[in-house]
Amino acid sequence: MEMQAGLVKTGALRPLKWLGGLVLDTLYPPVCLACDTPVTAADALCPSCFRTLRPITAPVCPVLGLPFAVSLGPGTLSAEAIADPPPFDRARSAVVYNEVARALVGKLKYGDRPELARLCARLMAQAGHELFRPDAVLVPVPLHRTRQFARRYNQSTELARALGKFTGLLVDPGLVVRQKATRQQVGLSGDARRRNVAGAFQASDNIRSRLRGRRVIIVDDVITTGSTVKAVTRALKAGGAPHVDVLSFARVVTGVD
Ligand SMILES: [Zn+2]
Repeated sequence: MEMQAGLVKTGALRPLKWLGGLVLDTLYPPVCLACDTPVTAADALCPSCFRTLRPITAPVCPVLGLPFAVSLGPGTLSAEAIADPPPFDRARSAVVYNEVARALVGKLKYGDRPELARLCARLMAQAGHELFRPDAVLVPVPLHRTRQFARRYNQSTELARALGKFTGLLVDPGLVVRQKATRQQVGLSGDARRRNVAGAFQASDNIRSRLRGRRVIIVDDVITTGSTVKAVTRALKAGGAPHVDVLSFARVVTGVD
C-alpha cells in the first residue's frame, strides 16, 4: 500500500519537473559558457570549446606546476624553478591560458555567472588534488576595495568559494588585503609587473590566530608571470603563514595554446 502511494507521488511529480525544465529552457536556452552557441545541457561548454581547452596534467614541475613534454622522473624540477625559486611552495593550474580559457576568464571577471565559477572550480579541484589537506585554507587574491566596488565582484573569491564547496576546505578572503590600488597587469612587462605589485599586499593583523599553523592555498584566475601570486605569498609568509601553495584556473604556458 505504502509502495503504491510512493509510486503515485513520483509519477505525479515527474511531469511537473519536466515541464519546469522545458519552460526555463525556452526562456533561457542553454548556451556554451565560453562562446554562447546553443548547447543541449546547461552549465557546459560546446564540443568545439571543450576540445580546445588544454588541461595541464602530469608530468609537471613539482614546484611551478608547468607541464613537462616528457617525464623526467619524480622530484625533477624545471629549469625555471631552479634558476628563480618562487616564494610559494607549489603552484598548480587547471588549464593552459588559450583562447577558450581567455573567454571563460573574461566572462568570470565581468559577468555575474556563478555557473562559470563552478565549471572552473571543478577543473581546479582535479588539478589541485595534491595540495588539498583537511587543514588547508583557500585564500583568494584580493582586489583593491575601489576596484571591487566598481566591479561588485572578485572573480578569485568566487572561484575560492566554488572550490570550497567541492573540497570542503575553509575559505578566508580576509587573510591578506590589497593595500594599494595597482595598475592592471595586462600589457606590462615582467619587470613592470613585479614593481607594480611590490608591497601591494599585506597579511591581516590577526593572521597567526586565524591560521593557527594551517596551510594556505592562494586562489587566482590566471597566472601570467606569477608576480601577483608571489607578492601575495611574500605577504602571507611575512605574516607568519608556514606553508603557501597556489592554485589557478588558467596559466600562461609558453609555446602551448
Ligand atoms: Zn563554445
